[in-house]
Amino acid sequence: MVAPTESYVAAGSRIAIAPRLLSSLADHLDTTAHRVVIITDSNVGPLHAATAAAALAALHPVVLTMPAGEEHKTRATWAQLTDELLALGAGRDTVIVALGGGVVGDVAGFVAATYLRGVPVVQVPTSLLAMIDAAIGGKTGLDVPAGKNLVGAFHAPALIAIDPTLLATLPARELRAGLAEAIKHGVIRDAEYFAMLREAAPLLSDPASAAREAMRGLISRSVAIKSAVVSNDPREQGERKILNFGHTLGHAIEAASGYALRHGEAIAIGMVLEARLGEALGVTAAGTSAAVRDAVERAGLPSHTTLDAADLVARTATDKKKTAGQIEYALPAHIGAFDRWTVPVPDETVLTVLRAQ
Ligand code: NAD
Repeated sequence: MVAPTESYVAAGSRIAIAPRLLSSLADHLDTTAHRVVIITDSNVGPLHAATAAAALAALHPVVLTMPAGEEHKTRATWAQLTDELLALGAGRDTVIVALGGGVVGDVAGFVAATYLRGVPVVQVPTSLLAMIDAAIGGKTGLDVPAGKNLVGAFHAPALIAIDPTLLATLPARELRAGLAEAIKHGVIRDAEYFAMLREAAPLLSDPASAAREAMRGLISRSVAIKSAVVSNDPREQGERKILNFGHTLGHAIEAASGYALRHGEAIAIGMVLEARLGEALGVTAAGTSAAVRDAVERAGLPSHTTLDAADLVARTATDKKKTAGQIEYALPAHIGAFDRWTVPVPDETVLTVLRAQ
């Protein structure tokens, strides 16, 4: 029996979720494009690019491959891919398919946003983190020496095509990293979802387990939450800022680790610490950070860091979420709800929380 395709809309982008969707991608494309360029990375390309190219054979697909890894989410990779598109003579009738995790999605999305002043992009996320978070919402970007995602653009995908069967090849560590964003969705919007994730985390983080059905439910629920938040506030003027829970310290931790930590691992630590920050400020209900830490640890994710506290605080200074010199943190009132989208926090308070780990 063929599973039905689930549909959502996120800030103007169509989302389709179905097993083996990659093989029938052409059926879901609503495009006048004559040509498709598939941008992927050196891990995902050998596994899945041939399926994508076969599915899009009528659009003369060309596959461009960037090296895998956060360290390649750079202006150099953007320039290389853009030059390759120019060398191909790709015109405005080209659609770019981003086939990969969040790194490919962010880089290929930014290439699409800037190539010939913008060509359409179809996001085909292949990691759990990208399926439930990075591919949705139209943010694209690059890392620069000053910090993560500091160069980028909003570029809403024409389609986000989620094929959960692609997770079969995802390494276990990457699966766990994706669970961090699911836990975040529970914390910011849905206490019952959080409780389910906390309970089922060991099963969900085991790729060999019978968690596949549960994983489909997780993907749908997280996609629904992220879609609702970005649709309410596509340009991050207010509500969308809650998606940054765990990310202000998380991005600093990710960069300070030299990207040795996966994005989701750094976010897991960031969520525990930012929940503690909220408790220290009296913004967040007591017990929230303990619950977040338990969920994170049950998912096999790290919950603390030994990285230098002063260095981490210094790194938050380049954070985009800054008002009048103070860094704005997205701190929940309790699991599932916010009273205010963001709270300005003095560096000294952050230092105290970091040093008390
Ligand atoms: P990633 O893209 O580096 O993917 C993780 C690893 O898994 C890579 O080595 C990749 O090659 C591999 N991989 C991916 N899918 C695979 C598959 N199906 N089979 C085998 N290997 C596979 O990292 P990620 O965790 O997917 O995404 C993290 C990135 O996403 C960060 O750069 C982060 O800033 C970004 N992000 C962006 C947004 C946004 O709104 N644009 C939101 C959250 C995160």
